[in-house]
Amino acid sequence: MHFYMPRSAEKARLGLQRLIIGSCCVFCNRRGEQNRDVCIACEQLFVRRVFIEKRHWVNFLCSLCGEEHRQFMPEDEFPDQSDENRRSKEPYFCQKCQLSNALFVRVLAPYRYEFPLDRIIQRMKYGQQRVLGRVLGSLLASHVGSDHSLPDIVLSVPLHTSRQISRGYNQAADIARWCARELGIAHKPLAVSRVFDTGSLAGLSKPARQLRILGAFRASDEVRGLRIAIVDDVLTTGATTRELARELYDSGAESVEVWVLARTSSSR
Ligand SMILES: [Zn+2]
Ligand SMILES: [Zn+2]
Repeated sequence: MHFYMPRSAEKARLGLQRLIIGSCCVFCNRRGEQNRDVCIACEQLFVRRVFIEKRHWVNFLCSLCGEEHRQFMPEDEFPDQSDENRRSKEPYFCQKCQLSNALFVRVLAPYRYEFPLDRIIQRMKYGQQRVLGRVLGSLLASHVGSDHSLPDIVLSVPLHTSRQISRGYNQAADIARWCARELGIAHKPLAVSRVFDTGSLAGLSKPARQLRILGAFRASDEVRGLRIAIVDDVLTTGATTRELARELYDSGAESVEVWVLARTSSSR
């Protein structure tokens, strides 16, 4: 059973808890900064999806297709550090995706799926380290920013029941729950379900993934008219997320955005 406190009460409770207990970096045990369980020094090790190199070059992975790009930036647009932080929140789509993406109102992917973040995500997924859900969820929430209005609910990509039973938990749902809690938004994991087990999609081509995942999700009526953020750990080909978004729109969702921690590079 899921119990949702009013947004203000939940935020006040979190604030009080941190005032009493404090926060501690789970990677180095130093005191956590900005009330997070990862310190700034450790977070710097995570490779940003968008970063500036030699003053004039913006390097980015397209958040939708994962293609590597390098873009020249003129002198008058020279960024300071806060600008770099802002840029990492921007979508930075490649031209091809700018023209073809009509599905998502926003794709947030602050980091690249590279060392050490890839190991941390794997530890959470396969190493039973569920505590990392809180860390990754609050880290993701810190990147959501205030430039966009918040969605009504947060969802995660559901696992098929048999897979969830064998793993014991859904890492995406854990990340989504903590992220939603941090932002004071409702997390509705039961609003979508997976109707058949697609097996692992790893190693399949993009068309093969699309075919395998077709019709895999069912959304309940409660998504009707809502603005929804789909939360996941990693965005790879995006076939799963697109199929879930299609089902949400078919079920009457007003808008769908995607929040993931990391984007894989398609050039690897
Ligand atoms: Zn640390
Ligand atoms: Zn692209």
